[in-house]
Amino acid sequence: MFSKILIANRGEIACRIAKTAKRLGIRVVAVYSQADAKARHVAFAHEAWCVGPAAAKESYLRGDAIIEAALKSGAQAIHPGYGFLSENEDFAAACKKAGLSFIGPPASAIRAMGSKSAAKTLMEKAGVPLVPGYHGDRQETEFLLGQSDKIGYPVLIKAAAGGGGKGMRVVEKSEDFAEALASCRREAKASFGDDHVLVEKYLSRPRHIEIQLFADTQGQCVYLFERDCSVQRRHQKVLEEAPAPGMSPERRRAMGEAAVAAAKAVGYVGAGTVEFIANTDEARAGALGGSFYFMEMNTRLQVEHPVTEMITGLDLVEWQLRVAAGEPLPLSQERLAIRGHSIEARVYAENPAKNFLPSTGTLRHLRSPDAIEFEVGPGAAPAAVRIDSGVREGDTISPYYDPMIAKLIVWGETRGVALARMATALGEFEVVGVTTNIEFLGRIVKGRAFSSGDLDTGLIERNRKELFPGAAPLRDEVLATAAFAEMSRCEAMARERAQASGDPNSPWHQVDSWRLNDTSHHALVFSEGKQHTAVTVWQAASGYRLRTPSGEFALSGEAGPDNRVHLRLDGRSIAARAVRIGMEWNIFLAGEQHRLALRDELHELESEAHGGSLAAPMPGKVIAVLVKKGARVEKGAPLVILEAMKMEHTITAPRAGKVTEIRYVAGEQVDEGVDLLLLED
Ligand code: ADP
Ligand code: ADP
Ligand code: MG
Repeated sequence: MFSKILIANRGEIACRIAKTAKRLGIRVVAVYSQADAKARHVAFAHEAWCVGPAAAKESYLRGDAIIEAALKSGAQAIHPGYGFLSENEDFAAACKKAGLSFIGPPASAIRAMGSKSAAKTLMEKAGVPLVPGYHGDRQETEFLLGQSDKIGYPVLIKAAAGGGGKGMRVVEKSEDFAEALASCRREAKASFGDDHVLVEKYLSRPRHIEIQLFADTQGQCVYLFERDCSVQRRHQKVLEEAPAPGMSPERRRAMGEAAVAAAKAVGYVGAGTVEFIANTDEARAGALGGSFYFMEMNTRLQVEHPVTEMITGLDLVEWQLRVAAGEPLPLSQERLAIRGHSIEARVYAENPAKNFLPSTGTLRHLRSPDAIEFEVGPGAAPAAVRIDSGVREGDTISPYYDPMIAKLIVWGETRGVALARMATALGEFEVVGVTTNIEFLGRIVKGRAFSSGDLDTGLIERNRKELFPGAAPLRDEVLATAAFAEMSRCEAMARERAQASGDPNSPWHQVDSWRLNDTSHHALVFSEGKQHTAVTVWQAASGYRLRTPSGEFALSGEAGPDNRVHLRLDGRSIAARAVRIGMEWNIFLAGEQHRLALRDELHELESEAHGGSLAAPMPGKVIAVLVKKGARVEKGAPLVILEAMKMEHTITAPRAGKVTEIRYVAGEQVDEGVDLLLLED
């Protein structure tokens, strides 16, 4: 076995590989880009070498610099992780040439599977079933169109060199073919430097089922069962699980044997995954139909390998290290068995509502669900909740790399138990600083289709209504938490100023001076997205009174450590967390997260600015009218929110009165100086 390895990757996978290496007593060398000097994977390693600037092309993809770091550090082997150089045959060959072991398959196997077209030709010869299509060398548009017409629509055009769902185009009819082909070629050329394509039948409602396999240098090859990765967005995986719901033992064996045949056909060594696409049975939701077809082979460790580890009790990175060191596979096919069920969710910094656009920023607050360390060995129960993360609070999600925050993996004796654990654990995952897909994942996991195992690659699209609900009015509990947190903060600030003030005449001098404003009503406007909610808080005999759009309540409570608050709202008790970043309160309550941007009168009081006229202070757009005609308002009550110069401005009541006329509605453009509404004393 090796005594020192270099990990040519970053993020969660670099940390995850390091964990196993350390468990086996192997020293770990990390590489990093200048942007990652303080990253978790660097801190986690025994030593770390900088390999270049932030851009991956100049650092994590610099095979020469990485090999040099390995040689200088005295590492004997390089683990490429996934992505980056993991499927780069030249890098695998260069490692060998430098006298280093590449922890992965031989360069020849990477090459054989590198082109989807060439791989399909090979698989056809090995007797592995393929989706009907054309994967030959001829690339003329007319010829490919003819092939598509023969296959029958819809067809899928894929980049032969493709990956990550890039370049794929679904074509519904003959007339659309040429344009889709041109666009696929453009994207393939730009992404992979190769515009070779293949066309195949586009299956409707298929499932993505892949087989994990392992081969050693002694010629043994086993399959570690399947993973179902059907829940996808833009042809990329979102949730993965093992075993696949509805899988029969016969089909499992057939797919496993087909995968082993695929690996043997290319002289495979190490961990690999053969991806299949399978028909769903139209008659029985969730059941697997008759046929399955080879899609591609990924010649590396897969992102979702933990679900296989959870159901087999094995450490796949340990197996990779043993195989690369020349040891035989630790177990034979007969000794492999499935126990329980595991699900993985990929927690990303992205905005599902904006077509999953990546989100960047600093992780100002990060709480993961409690994990139980991964256990291995016969008889050991797998961890119930596992988190593979590459970041810590304070780290940034930068535009340079994949915006994955962590993988959340759960295990249960049954799928039902695993589902419940996943739903609970997602509710405990708190992130402030970037937009995440956590709530979206929660909706999928709790949704009818996923929880009943009715899986196929169209699940997200088909359940859009359920998965992308519109904004609901803020619940009183959420408003109460935010209002209480804000009031507590202001009181604490007033106390601090009182203590710091040396001026005996300062209004802040007395400890309770803030309460000089006792009788005044504090009007707060919380904005979540485009929804603006006004609440009023004022001091009462014990605690506060709170008025929300749905009523008036008694509110009291305590602020605890670590941003926790415990509240009583009339009879209800609430335990929540409230994290303030700038002018935004992030409220975590019963598994929900709300980002409430605040505009409030207290700040105006602090800065001694006054709300004044009812006129628009500058030209802009009305984004919300917070009062109705006829409403009685108090001095300082927020009336209208105006957006101008990319900022929002709140127009407040200059005095108490009754709103007699509302002159503009949300969405209207207004000129500077126009009266937005009329107020009568
Ligand atoms: P990549 O290299 O981008 O991973 P794949 O060939 O593995 O490309 O396909 C990615 C995803 O696209 C699959 O998981 C599946 O959801 C979908 N897909 C691929 N081929 C087909 C097909 N013939 N019919 C329907 N969906 C497909
Ligand atoms: P899989 O087929 O294993 O599920 P994907 O195709 O979804 O994998 O993901 C592989 C992708 O992961 C790469 O194309 C790359 O964009 C991304 N990636 C590479 N390295 C890292 C990393 N260290 N952390 C997170 N993502 C990474
Ligand atoms: Mg794939």
